[in-house]
Amino acid sequence: MTGQDSFTTLLLEETEDGVSASIKELGESALPEGDVTVAVQYSSLNYKDGMVLNGLGKLVRTYPHVPGVDLAGTVMQSDSPNYKAGDEVILTGWRVGEAHWGGYATRARVKSDWLVPKPAGLSLKECMAIGTAGFTAMLAVMALEDHGLTPDADGEVLVTGAAGGVGSVAVSILAHLGYEITASTGRDETHAYLKDLGATSIIDRAELAAPPRGPLGKERWSGAIDNVAGSTLTSLLASLGYGASCAAVGLAGGPKLDSTVIPFLLRSVNLLGIDSVMCPTARRIDAWTRLARDLPRNKLLAATHTAGLADVPELGGRILRGQVRGRTVIDLSL
Ligand code: NDP
Repeated sequence: MTGQDSFTTLLLEETEDGVSASIKELGESALPEGDVTVAVQYSSLNYKDGMVLNGLGKLVRTYPHVPGVDLAGTVMQSDSPNYKAGDEVILTGWRVGEAHWGGYATRARVKSDWLVPKPAGLSLKECMAIGTAGFTAMLAVMALEDHGLTPDADGEVLVTGAAGGVGSVAVSILAHLGYEITASTGRDETHAYLKDLGATSIIDRAELAAPPRGPLGKERWSGAIDNVAGSTLTSLLASLGYGASCAAVGLAGGPKLDSTVIPFLLRSVNLLGIDSVMCPTARRIDAWTRLARDLPRNKLLAATHTAGLADVPELGGRILRGQVRGRTVIDLSL
């Protein structure tokens, strides 16, 4: 199939052994319902895409499926009064790429309510270099600020899973805002990269995940952004300063939380849940405005690779194994 009516996609199909992804040409009539059709130029690779591409976590219920939890492109056709052909738009969250066809296709049909106009000062490609992971990093920073974190607080801000997508953008934003940051990573080869992004010091992932000696450790962190959960989160909660907060973003190290309530009772610490998927639109727009302002372009580019649709299946496995550094933009023209 060729021509105006067709588009290229990485289609995920159910097989006897699980799922299998291959590049396909589909007709526009295959697109799901929605009031806006977008010519997608860029998407990105996120941890959840790795799960979807490998059929994990029951995130996708209906096949065939187009993965890609975010997208950036130009409106082709719109039945919504809020958008017209030619408008540049971005989309993250709302279970796109899970419950609805996502960004790993040159065309997407979506609900206009899910879209955000491209923020001034960022290109479409830069928006996807930020993508779901970077947007989430900004939501985490904003949540810590809402709970009183300022750059002059005692102690460094801890970022776990720091060499990953959320972690890399979080370190870059915090450094730009003047925070002292400890970056936790399990990969020695990323130390120089994390220092370049602005980390003040590095702590090994294994050291951080070691169980605390008791329910409370030394007051060490003025705040934390945690992408890992499991024993790392348990241990960091015991080392937060009095009244400090941890923004819980992810579970790359497992979903369990085995903390006592003592840090909450005796140190008044806060555990703040971060959800980028159903985040209200006003908060989204605030976060994108902040990203255009508080994320230095050179740091973003240093943390970004570009890949094509054909590379995505392999990258989906690598991100689950913790082998992807920083952010990966998927360029639909490659
Ligand atoms: P990445 O894979 O890019 O980063 C995760 C990082 O976690 C890795 O780079 C690695 O960092 C570390 N890591 C990986 N495996 C383990 C392990 N077994 N134990 C300890 N650390 C590990 O993923 P993202 O940055 O895109 O996402 C991070 C997490 O946040 C994921 O769980 C994801 O699902 C979640 N997420 C949540 C969102 C929300 O709305 N709450 C939105 C976006 C993501 P290093 O090598 O430095 O140790």
